[in-house]
Amino acid sequence: MNVPFVDLKAQYQSLKPEIDAAIRDVIDNTAFIGGRSVEAFEKAYAQRFGIKHCISCANGTDAIYITLKALGIGPGDEIITVANSWISTSETITQTGARPVFIDIDEYFHINPATIEKKITKRTKAIIPVHLYGQPVAIDVIKGICDAHRLLLIEDCAQSHFATFGDKYTGTFGLAGTFSFYPGKNLGAYGDAGGIVTNDHELADKCRMIANHGRIEKYNHEFEGRNSRLDGLQAAILSIKLKYLDKWIKRRKEIADYYLNHIRPNDELILPYKAGWAEHVWHLFVVRAKRRDLLKEYLQRKGIQCGIHYPISLPRLKAYRYCRQYDDKMIANIFDREVLSLPIGEHLSDSEVRQIAAAVNSFYE
Ligand SMILES: *Cc1c(COP(=O)(O)O)cnc(C)c1O
Repeated sequence: MNVPFVDLKAQYQSLKPEIDAAIRDVIDNTAFIGGRSVEAFEKAYAQRFGIKHCISCANGTDAIYITLKALGIGPGDEIITVANSWISTSETITQTGARPVFIDIDEYFHINPATIEKKITKRTKAIIPVHLYGQPVAIDVIKGICDAHRLLLIEDCAQSHFATFGDKYTGTFGLAGTFSFYPGKNLGAYGDAGGIVTNDHELADKCRMIANHGRIEKYNHEFEGRNSRLDGLQAAILSIKLKYLDKWIKRRKEIADYYLNHIRPNDELILPYKAGWAEHVWHLFVVRAKRRDLLKEYLQRKGIQCGIHYPISLPRLKAYRYCRQYDDKMIANIFDREVLSLPIGEHLSDSEVRQIAAAVNSFYE
């Protein structure tokens, strides 16, 4: 067996004629930055959300940074976020001059809403929850906290494209939702790409200006911004892949259900919990295993590639020593030694899915 963790080649093969034609079209029109295909993707993406604006940008990290800057976040501010995420979530906070305040996680690997209020101070300006692994956080509770304390709510949706809470998509609860279209994400480009969705006109205008050097029109800049634009090729590819995303998400759900029904939990192995409040889109299928590294090697020897998301919690990273928020009793610092991501995605055949589940079970026999 040879099961890669992600297989973008197989996906490309399945869409080759359509993708190749779209790339050809962008090149023929030499619309490399911005232009028709970027406008078309922004429109299609916003429409799928039923939201007024989608502002594309260079990557998901910039999507967070630009949103924070547009909201006036800067030195002296504190932003509450989660101890278990990809570094972009907190890195962008620091880059505005603000300070990240890390909240420990709960059994869903999410920011624990029950402990947020203890960390709110006079300086707190915003909360950035992350719908990690594709499962929505308890956004109703977090929104309630934001409303009660007049905090801005920005959702990091880099892993949760079209995951729903109730009948609404993640990214539509806060002031803005930020997305990554990194190739390995559920909706991925063929390079870096990102986007922001919002219903707020003013915020949308500001984000668009920041992403394009603070310009009002060519050579007229109201303030300094940055160069964070989506290129035409990526937009054309994303528009095509957007049409297939529902099908791919459905397949992810099928695989997750198979794993949940066929991998046998035991004293050393805990399967991911599905929250009753949400539709999980399974960007990652993350188990907790006591002898994680041995299990990973065992599966690797059988040709099954796994991932670890993430091996070092954010407060435990050297990059965040300056925050002095590391505490070895944090759940995030216990789980980061146990988490293992099994392969999931539409590249897997039924027989591979069965073999992966059987291989995990056989490790414990
Ligand atoms: C991928 C990711 C990002 C950043 O996206 P890039 O496009 O790689 O810059 C931000 N937050 C989370 C949770 C992510 O997984």
